[in-house]
Amino acid sequence: MSVQIGAAERPLRVAVIGSGPSGFYAAEELQRSGVAVQVDMYDRLPTPFGLVRGGVAPDHQKIKSVTRVYDKIAAHPEFRFYGNVEFGRDVTHADLSAYYHAIIYAVGARTDRRMGVPGEHLPGSHSATEFVGWYNAHPDHRSLSFRLGSERAVVVGNGNVAMDLARILASSAEQLAATDVADYALRELAASGIREIVVLGRRGPAQAAFTTKELRELGELPEADVVVDPAELELDPLSHAEVARLPGRTRDANLEVLRGFAARPPRGAQRRVVLRFLTSPVRILGAERVQGLEVERNELYRAEDGTLRPRPAEARETIACDLVFRAIGYQGVPLPGVPFDAWAGRIPNHGGRVLDPARGEPVVGEYAVGWIKRGPQGIIGTNKPDSQETVSALLADLASGRLDKPDVPGREVLEGLLYERKRDFVSYEDWQLIDELERERGERAGAPRLKFSRVEEMLHALGERRERERPSTA
Ligand code: NAP
Repeated sequence: MSVQIGAAERPLRVAVIGSGPSGFYAAEELQRSGVAVQVDMYDRLPTPFGLVRGGVAPDHQKIKSVTRVYDKIAAHPEFRFYGNVEFGRDVTHADLSAYYHAIIYAVGARTDRRMGVPGEHLPGSHSATEFVGWYNAHPDHRSLSFRLGSERAVVVGNGNVAMDLARILASSAEQLAATDVADYALRELAASGIREIVVLGRRGPAQAAFTTKELRELGELPEADVVVDPAELELDPLSHAEVARLPGRTRDANLEVLRGFAARPPRGAQRRVVLRFLTSPVRILGAERVQGLEVERNELYRAEDGTLRPRPAEARETIACDLVFRAIGYQGVPLPGVPFDAWAGRIPNHGGRVLDPARGEPVVGEYAVGWIKRGPQGIIGTNKPDSQETVSALLADLASGRLDKPDVPGREVLEGLLYERKRDFVSYEDWQLIDELERERGERAGAPRLKFSRVEEMLHALGERRERERPSTA
């Protein structure tokens, strides 16, 4: 009788595509399962951690310390990281299907939703994804430029990403210098001419998606006033009834903080963050570049699903501005060879099992976790139970024999393929050297780290460090 997959002599081989929180929690769950398992984690960048590195705001260092947990997961003797290896280019779906019993997609949501208003393409109109990636030294976005000399910027959206953007734009150079913001972004933000940041929520203050801690932080900025017109906080009858009827801890705490902002006399600070509600963008104005944003006032109505939705109510107005950031949600992109639901921006799945759209049946051995599974919602911790659900499905499939494959080659064969295809792949040990170098560079600047923002730069620095550490043969 052949040896069971998952026995010590025949470990379960799993490829995890993407090295953000959901990928690491999936790896952890597999490691805790009691099954002998080899987890190989791939990332197209040489650096791991997904949005923890490239999305979490640079002034939220405490949140980033979650990577210590990921370091422990990576320290498992049967864990490997293959960074700088892109799925679909350096290794294909067919390759991985042959080399692993199971594949877990943990690629997150790489792009953003669009507002769908005229003028969205104009220079000066940007997605939050671009701006956040830029100030976080993400190689995809490091070469972008933003007209920070402008006087007023509008941020569309009322989620935590909108809060991050508004806070970073309103922060002082001194505050930012103590973070791991990209060095080029720090220079440009320090010289920024922006005096007013207007944040637009399409629904009312009782429906805002941001959380109270993030809202409160706006009010703690030393060089910015937060401005809320008290009239904006007078709830419409439907919201009023809902607040009275339904409990909502975050909502109620948000309203209290907002009332506090509205009651505060402005200090005449250098910058202002203006929070407006029930206002939607209609058109971005300008011929060659953004010169303004036409907005309309909304009212709320009860939709068929019972939620309060916005609809246009009153005359339009124009906000003069040179910069518009849309922070209205991320969006997943398809992976070559993997089913994708373009409407939802996700991999179709049932409890994490990837579904074949034509048959509606699970694709054997393929799973999804995180934002590509459930959509771009939730904080880092949300991914833990989400990944646990997927790994439970995977382990159930293993137990029922659905993952049986006669001849999955060992790791050394896979590494042979990688040496042929992508000689400069980056291991976890390599990443730890990059990490060390970034921290050393940061220390000199009084910051937690100074990130490399170009892949070539990372690989070059890594090569030099390895060279220095090589024992001398002289
Ligand atoms: P989000 O929480 O889904 O918020 C999106 C916002 O955009 C909502 O206010 C939404 O309004 C609005 N919106 C959507 N379409 C719009 C349109 N066409 N016009 C105007 N407004 C529109 O998304 P997010 O801010 O990108 O955050 C994603 C996830 O990451 C969230 O779960 C968030 O909490 C998390 N996150 C957490 C932190 C943190 O913990 N510090 C930081 C960043 C992100 P409606 O509500 O009306 O749809």
